[in-house]
Amino acid sequence: MIKPEDALVKPLPIPDADTAAFWKGLARGELLLLHCLDCEAVHYYQQGLCRACGSERLEHRRASGRGRVYSYSVVYRAPGPAFKDDTPYAVLLVELEEGPRMISSLVDGDPERVTIDMPVELVCEKINDEITLPRFRPA
Ligand SMILES: [Zn+2]
Repeated sequence: MIKPEDALVKPLPIPDADTAAFWKGLARGELLLLHCLDCEAVHYYQQGLCRACGSERLEHRRASGRGRVYSYSVVYRAPGPAFKDDTPYAVLLVELEEGPRMISSLVDGDPERVTIDMPVELVCEKINDEITLPRFRPA
């Protein structure tokens, strides 16, 4: 059960062995995607195996940071007290230029003016020394 004082703090990702390089990349302002050296599939999710062919021969490459809104939802009712001051905000499913889709949220834009296919670009939002969150703004 969540303690009342914890509900006032936004949860943050916890880097692990599979995601440490990804989070370090974001701290440098780079969104890293995993490229399979055997089948050329590109993955957003950070794991040791290619989801397309099962290969372990994956390498990180910097994404352009450009993409389009594949889908979105505008949140009017905060999921908890920590998010109350953020509403309304837009949760985005961004299709990156390289192909993978990722969930993020909109910054520097009106959440009520988001449209499907809207071009967006990466914004690296530093939260602390370990975590920088990938967000998107209208391009
Ligand atoms: Zn593969």
